[in-house]
Formats: sequence, C-alpha cells, structure tokens
Amino acid sequence: MNIVKIDHIGVAVDGIEEAGQFWQQILGLAVTESETVESQQVTTGFIPVGDSEIELLESTMETGPIAKFIEKRGPGIHHIAFEVDNLAQALEELKSAGIRLIDEQPRPGAGDKRIAFLHPKATGGVLVELCERVDRCR
Ligand code: ZN
Repeated sequence: MNIVKIDHIGVAVDGIEEAGQFWQQILGLAVTESETVESQQVTTGFIPVGDSEIELLESTMETGPIAKFIEKRGPGIHHIAFEVDNLAQALEELKSAGIRLIDEQPRPGAGDKRIAFLHPKATGGVLVELCERVDRCR
C-alpha cells in the first residue's frame, strides 16, 4: 500500500456554522466546500490547510453515526484519513493481513473521493479512513 499523505482529519461538530467560526475567525481558515452525504446522514464542511484538510462533520439526523458519536464522546476528533493511490489494492492487502474493516469495498465519499474505514479495534482505537481521489489520474 502506498500512503500519499494525511488527506484530512474528521472532526465531529454539533453545527458546521457554529464550529466554523472558531476555524474561520480565530484560525483564519475557510470552509470552502460543503456537501451532504445522505447515505451517511452527514453534512461535511472542508477546510483546506496546506496539503491536507479538516473535515467538519455535522449529523443530518438524530440517529446518524455522527450524532451517536457526539452523544457518547462529545464533539471532537472523529477520524484520520490517509490518501492512498490505489484503494482497492490497499483493502486487499489489509484483508489478507487479517485487519478488520468496516468497509470491505470502496464506497463514494464527500469531495469526489472513494473511501473505506478500518475498524478502530484493529488500529488501537483510532478510526482510520483510507481514501482515493477519483479526480486524480494515476
Ligand atoms: Zn473523512
């Protein structure tokens, strides 16, 4: 597997609008893209920081995965995403190494990416996302 970089860090927030004020007014960063991923019951707001991004995650439903996360642990860091150059191949490698996956197959994510999550039980408690940029030729 070839990891290109830390693509983004996902942060669970109660509201992108309110949370965005800290990132925008205090840190001087900007939410440049917002997108709702209905299948995950989440609205995402992307904040570019150099070559990486912060991904703000706001639940669209009280029962969504982000709402459940905040209910249990409060708002905060939710996952770390690594960009890989070949997601399907990376998942095959992890499967053959016996690593527990949440997503066995790549699925569509926000920002024109294909993504897959590894199970936190297999990573020492960190929810790890692998993503592949569909718009990037390889
Ligand atoms: Zn993410």
